[in-house]
Amino acid sequence: MSLTVSPVVDHTGKVIGASKIARDITQQKLTQQRAKKYTVRLEIMNMVMSAISEELDLNKILQKVTDATTELTGAQFGAFFYNKLDAAGESYTLFTLSGAPREAFEKFGMPRNTAVFHPTFSGEGVVRVDDITKDPRYGKNDPYHGMPKGHLPVVSYLAVPVVSRNGHVIGGLFFGHQEPAMFTEEHEALVISIAAQAAISLDNAKLFEEVRALNDKKDEFIGLASHELKTPLSSVNGYLQILDRQIKEEAPKKFLQKALNQVGRITSLVNDLLDVSKIEAGKLQLTTADFDLKPIIEESIELIQHSAAKHTISFTSEMGHCPVQGDAQRIEQVIVNLLSNAIKYAPKADKVEVSLKCTAEKVIVSVKDLGPGIAKDKLKNIFTRFYRIDEASPNISGLGIGLYLAHEIITRHHGEIWAESKLGEGSTFFFSLPKPLA
Ligand code: ADP
Repeated sequence: MSLTVSPVVDHTGKVIGASKIARDITQQKLTQQRAKKYTVRLEIMNMVMSAISEELDLNKILQKVTDATTELTGAQFGAFFYNKLDAAGESYTLFTLSGAPREAFEKFGMPRNTAVFHPTFSGEGVVRVDDITKDPRYGKNDPYHGMPKGHLPVVSYLAVPVVSRNGHVIGGLFFGHQEPAMFTEEHEALVISIAAQAAISLDNAKLFEEVRALNDKKDEFIGLASHELKTPLSSVNGYLQILDRQIKEEAPKKFLQKALNQVGRITSLVNDLLDVSKIEAGKLQLTTADFDLKPIIEESIELIQHSAAKHTISFTSEMGHCPVQGDAQRIEQVIVNLLSNAIKYAPKADKVEVSLKCTAEKVIVSVKDLGPGIAKDKLKNIFTRFYRIDEASPNISGLGIGLYLAHEIITRHHGEIWAESKLGEGSTFFFSLPKPLA
């Protein structure tokens, strides 16, 4: 009721009575309540729809859908039974629950293909019953003839199949309430729309799992193949070196040198691949010690300069010594990689500039080339695994793992690696390492 009371006054302004207006606002209140209920439902729907469309973790999708639909239907408990194939192709069922502990269901096993459950698991359609215990399909099966003893009491029953885009039944959403006639047509419609979105999200999650499994297999293969290649490669290298020592004639010796160079190239590719698979498996070992970075840079330059006839590599350093902490061999690997890229990807240039600088907290090494440079949109990807800018260097071979390894090694040393470049103006690669505490 809405009550309005106003004073009634005479000509002198004295209150002589009161007027009351009472209005029945039941309808208005009901409409407000209904609107509020719809808003809350809409919010839950929106929340669950966007949450599951972004989610790729199967269990999380199942749980979010179960929780949201149980809340929306006002069920005392809800469950999502999900059919899954394991690696051997065997079917098994996962389930998530809302409103009841897992123990409440675990002892009963999975719902079987009985008359009650059949329409859901076959994808035939929705089952919504005001009192399932009075339904003709109920209680027809051994051994329980109805719900087993100790089962949560279900009177109102709603079950919605979840069907994938290709028509395959992914599973079913089940809701129960101990009071009769709790689930309405509207509840049914809400669950159906969420079930449709859930089917899409579950399909995506499944695809994602498959891609991940294939990716793992690929990593495993790379590890295995590079490991298998390493042994014969070392033998070839060994035999070529023996021959090299024995042969004195100039012409065959030249060929042998070429063969040895090529074997060296393959060995470094195989080693890089092995490192990649070690990183993926979390097994890249670092042997940490104090060392001087300056001679490491000088040695790397010497090594690369040796095989780079056209380019001159210059080096400027702000300090005489540069003590750092880490794995000297791995840091050398990074510098060698940056130097060989600076030469490999700038075939028309003839200069590479290396510098070593120092700030209060870190040391910074830079490798600058005068090559074609790297486009801005590509720059952010060059440290990713297997990434290559093919159109910029179509005839230059590589696997796109050198910078990925460099990034991994520097990050493991708590340093940073980055590149600055402008198309047509060359590139500068930097890495920094923290200075050891004094
Ligand atoms: P790759 O084995 O292919 O050389 P990297 O991981 O070392 O792999 O480099 C990734 C990609 O980044 C290269 O394919 C190349 O396109 C680009 N890149 C690397 N260094 C330079 C550079 N100094 N100048 C221009 N492009 C470069």
